[in-house]
Amino acid sequence: MPLIPINMREGAIARTEETIVGIDLGTTNSLVAYIKDGKPHCIRDAAGKHTLVPSVVHFTPEGEVLVGDAAREKLISDPANTIYSVKRLMGKSYRDVADFQSFLGYQVFDDDTDSLVKIRVRDRFFTPIELSAEILRALKRRAETELGRPVSKAVITVPAYFNDNQRQATRDAGRLAGLDVLRIVNEPTAAALAYGIGLDSTHTETIAVYDLGGGTFDISILKIHEGMFEVLATNGDTFLGGDDFDRALADLLLQQAGFNSDAVASDKATAQALRLQAESVKKALSKADTCEGNVLGKTVRIQRTDFERAIEPLVQRTLDCCANALRDAGLQPKDIEKVVLVGGSTRVPFVKQRVAEFFGQQPFDGLDPDEVVALGAAVQADILAGNQRDLLLLDVTPLSLGIETVGGLMDVIIPRNSKVPIRAARQYTTSVDGQKNLKIAVYQGERDLVQHNRKLGEFILSGIPPMPAGLPKIEIAFIINADGILTVRAKELRSGIEQQIDIRPAYGITEEDMARMLMDSIAHAAEDMRARALLEARNEAQTLLLAGEKFLQQNDALLSETEKATTRSFLRALQEIIPGDDKDRIHSAIQQLNEYTAPLARRVMDATIREAMQGKKIP
Ligand code: AMP
Repeated sequence: MPLIPINMREGAIARTEETIVGIDLGTTNSLVAYIKDGKPHCIRDAAGKHTLVPSVVHFTPEGEVLVGDAAREKLISDPANTIYSVKRLMGKSYRDVADFQSFLGYQVFDDDTDSLVKIRVRDRFFTPIELSAEILRALKRRAETELGRPVSKAVITVPAYFNDNQRQATRDAGRLAGLDVLRIVNEPTAAALAYGIGLDSTHTETIAVYDLGGGTFDISILKIHEGMFEVLATNGDTFLGGDDFDRALADLLLQQAGFNSDAVASDKATAQALRLQAESVKKALSKADTCEGNVLGKTVRIQRTDFERAIEPLVQRTLDCCANALRDAGLQPKDIEKVVLVGGSTRVPFVKQRVAEFFGQQPFDGLDPDEVVALGAAVQADILAGNQRDLLLLDVTPLSLGIETVGGLMDVIIPRNSKVPIRAARQYTTSVDGQKNLKIAVYQGERDLVQHNRKLGEFILSGIPPMPAGLPKIEIAFIINADGILTVRAKELRSGIEQQIDIRPAYGITEEDMARMLMDSIAHAAEDMRARALLEARNEAQTLLLAGEKFLQQNDALLSETEKATTRSFLRALQEIIPGDDKDRIHSAIQQLNEYTAPLARRVMDATIREAMQGKKIP
């Protein structure tokens, strides 16, 4: 995967000439956007009409794949070969989706309940990743047609509650569609960015993003602090949305026309026609106070207030979710500084009104609620492209990053929860005389011993000029750019020799792994401390052994035979104890050696000084 070039001198990401697109891969509809003349802009279909691409994939008997409007038309005529709502299946096992299998018109299949679901279309099986990739391919083509050049880089949004499996599945779908997914962004974060919220990194604020689509409702509470978007709480209902409004309104229409609702429900085509009629009446009522509808040949007039009464319990359910999210975040409605509306169903004036009452303020609704997430994804893409230089710190490091030092100890250079971009450096030296190479092994994790952490990579700093142990000054710098790419650079400062590697630290690690690593570090804290103390004692002893040997060699003439023999016996004793696991014994052997050799060292030093002074006149 190509890395984004970084301009190290400026500490900024270099501009890439290629347009990075922002993609909202939605449950019902998907969109693709990019920054055009400095403003985010959703790309329309070839006819220049619609920005929404229905997230529907149809397989024709000839094996052709249709995506979008053409596929949606097949939902009624050929439901078994027409796949919708695939987002609900991303990263899920059959066990996860068994409950709502009946909701889907196609066949979800798996013989092993714990493995990821597959979807059966005729005699072939598809993973949700492959099907999502079809939708992404269609979006990629749309962008390429508009831009007139290939598009290979994208930012894709996912719900804030998506776990790592679901995020990884989305990333994989992108890769399958030929897209390098530079970042997976939370949908509420993107919605905020579309309104420019969070772009002022000096401001801290808490916002709510209310997202009511066709089939799902999500509320997210975000804290934005110095350009970082922290998800404080999410809540919602995965089966609540505009479709439920349509059903409620369909019942109302039938009632007003004097029909029995059961009679209609048994006839699929009639039920479908009624549902479509209800949706168009609903949309009309978003603009007008009253509207006429045709119900099975009968004309009825519906008042907006009647519709509002019908959907009141549904809207109340969304507000209950908001209250739960606030409670989880430990906040009150008055603590929310801004409210952003997302999703087509927030066009319903009654929804807007109830949300405004609940939070005690007018929500942000200036942008098209269907487009707002894609527009924000385009803003994020533009930031990643390096086009908005003063921005943007979007992430924190999930786990500490460091290197292995002598004895397998983890030396943390960037602690967990540090804001990125970040640069941190520390100086090290060699432990052996004349050491020419230094292996730098980079780890991620919270444990004291690297063996319990996750290795990210290693490299060798070679060509260190021969110097006595302790003299080289080796600076190890960790640099994480805004895209989460870690560069580790090692430089011997006296000679200037230098090596570096690039690592993507956050990838491939699941949230479960991360949680486990953090829990382990707490559970093993005492054990780790003991292990660290033992290793430190061993390291000190090793250093002392080397120093002792050197002392004997260099001062052979100044020491008596007994002094040399006794020193050697102390060194031997220490050497024998080192492999044991009793740090106190190592410490006491170190102490004995030190006590015996300290007077000898003083005497040798005096002699050396005397010798150095001989023949030199003191002015
Ligand atoms: P989304 O999933 O965000 O695309 O939202 C789609 C939902 O928004 C569907 O239930 C639509 O019926 C609904 N919707 C779209 N436009 C309007 C409108 N003008 N008034 C009310 N609902 C709408």
